[in-house]
Amino acid sequence: MKFLLDGMLRGLARWLRFLGWDAQILQRWEADEIRRWYQREPDRVFVSRSRAHVEAWPGQFKVLLSSDDVAEQLQQLNERFSLVQPDLFLSRCSRCNQPLVAVRPEAVRGKVPERVFERFREFYLCPGCQRIYWEGGHVERLIKKLQRMGLFFSPNCSNQMNETGRPT
Ligand SMILES: [Zn+2]
Repeated sequence: MKFLLDGMLRGLARWLRFLGWDAQILQRWEADEIRRWYQREPDRVFVSRSRAHVEAWPGQFKVLLSSDDVAEQLQQLNERFSLVQPDLFLSRCSRCNQPLVAVRPEAVRGKVPERVFERFREFYLCPGCQRIYWEGGHVERLIKKLQRMGLFFSPNCSNQMNETGRPT
């Protein structure tokens, strides 16, 4: 399952990516852009706050969101698609939507803070923006935030990660 989000839904896209889902953003609501997406990937689930946009999307799968609040948007999608899947959690770059790839620690020497390099053994790279991710306390905060939004995880989550340059 892959999502295509209307341009107004960048906040939601970020959360979907944290959860591991492919969430692309429709940059412009223009006939050419819509046709391009639909021809390439007609099965993407189109998500919008605009009834007119949802009705105009030519694809079969679409969701009209009923709230402007990101938490409520996530809940609405979660009811329909069961978004919380531990194997997918944090398997994707939240910035550019690319799946992360595991890299050997030697490959990130000098690219992450020394204390991080010494403490963690598993690192992941975004092939798109080159950002490096690792397991860290940031993940717990992320899970708590998701739980506050009504999305629940089982206790053992694989792929728990932090990321470079992120203020914690
Ligand atoms: Zn990236």
